[in-house]
Amino acid sequence: MWVGTQIDTTKLEHIKADRKGILEEKVSLAKQSVGLDALLIWAHGDPQSIDTLCELCAGMGIETYLWYPILADIPDFEIPKSAKVVNHEGRRGYGEIGRWQRLGTYASGREKFEFLCPNSEETISQIFNLYKNQLNRHDFDGVFLDRIRYPSAAMGFEMLFSCFCDNCKRMFKQQFNMDLQNLRSAVEAHFGKRDIYSIDLIKNAGSIHEILYPEVMGNFLIFKNRSVYKVVKKFSDYAKTKGKKVGLDLFSHSLAGAVSQDYELLSTACDWIKPMIYCHSTGPAGFPLELHSIIHSLLTLNRDLKLEGVAAGLSDILKVKLPETLNLLMTNGIPEELIFYEIKNINMLNLKSGVDIYPGFEVMKMDDLCVITEKILGSYLDNVFAQKAKGMVMSWDLLDMPAENLDFTKRYLREHTG
Ligand SMILES: [Zn+2]
Repeated sequence: MWVGTQIDTTKLEHIKADRKGILEEKVSLAKQSVGLDALLIWAHGDPQSIDTLCELCAGMGIETYLWYPILADIPDFEIPKSAKVVNHEGRRGYGEIGRWQRLGTYASGREKFEFLCPNSEETISQIFNLYKNQLNRHDFDGVFLDRIRYPSAAMGFEMLFSCFCDNCKRMFKQQFNMDLQNLRSAVEAHFGKRDIYSIDLIKNAGSIHEILYPEVMGNFLIFKNRSVYKVVKKFSDYAKTKGKKVGLDLFSHSLAGAVSQDYELLSTACDWIKPMIYCHSTGPAGFPLELHSIIHSLLTLNRDLKLEGVAAGLSDILKVKLPETLNLLMTNGIPEELIFYEIKNINMLNLKSGVDIYPGFEVMKMDDLCVITEKILGSYLDNVFAQKAKGMVMSWDLLDMPAENLDFTKRYLREHTG
């Protein structure tokens, strides 16, 4: 069992002395307890701490990855307004419907989840240069690419239908010989429909993706998938030329289609994928928040819908029962068996051979985001093992990971592996 975890050294910035001692203690503990194989190091943070981590890990046989966000929350970079995604109404960045209430205040506003358009080539080139500098500045074994998507429902439901910027118009015309303006009109018509998102549609859909998008969007969705892929390939190719491995942080399969992450296509540009199968976290990519935003939006757009019917339709798709109210969805999360079904679905895809799937799940106790008890952790691990996953990523942060959860995982791994 390959075990990875993540670390954000910006949290050490307020500590003046002995950052090295703290890092050494945390990394050694993870190595001794769960046999840590890889540490994914957030791109921002004091360079000395990052160097310290690279040295410590090299000495303990742990691979290090530069954890780099590409299309949002880029370190030391302000996204120009002109590069932000544009929805059919001309709004940039965030939408309105079902938007996450804590947006902007989350992690002291450092993580904004405000996305730039993957086709903003000039801006992407600037970010690419920052990435190259960071990758060459430290001695990493690989890169772990994050924020490689369009906005999710948590950024406002309408943003699921972006982007209509001038670059997208030009490139869509080139690829499909179609005017993107026509699709923009189709999206406007979609939102103006009286029976938008009918209960029959929700009941009969085979995927969340099928519920969200009308058929007329077909080529546009392919275009969006390719747009994300093109950016990932640019960053991945560079890492490969430097002899580095490439891991991808993707939305879990059921939600990936809505943010234009095509697992099969993206698997051609990486060595492994971490599907974020967060059943309890109430932040972006977490199922409770993303489902909350989707359900809330559907109920807002079609006042005839009832929560019960929508939840039943989504439960059928996900194969796990959703809680009875939106409040319970946020406080209790959803059953951890979701990991089993998500990995099962991913394993049925035609991924590039040799690309491993390392499910990512939360191991934290953070009052405002998720509280993972031993019971939940045990259930997560049972489902990871039931699917014979080759590895896993304990998310997110080694610096605040509860010692009892590390210890529980250690005992679990001893019992279940040779
Ligand atoms: Zn665009």
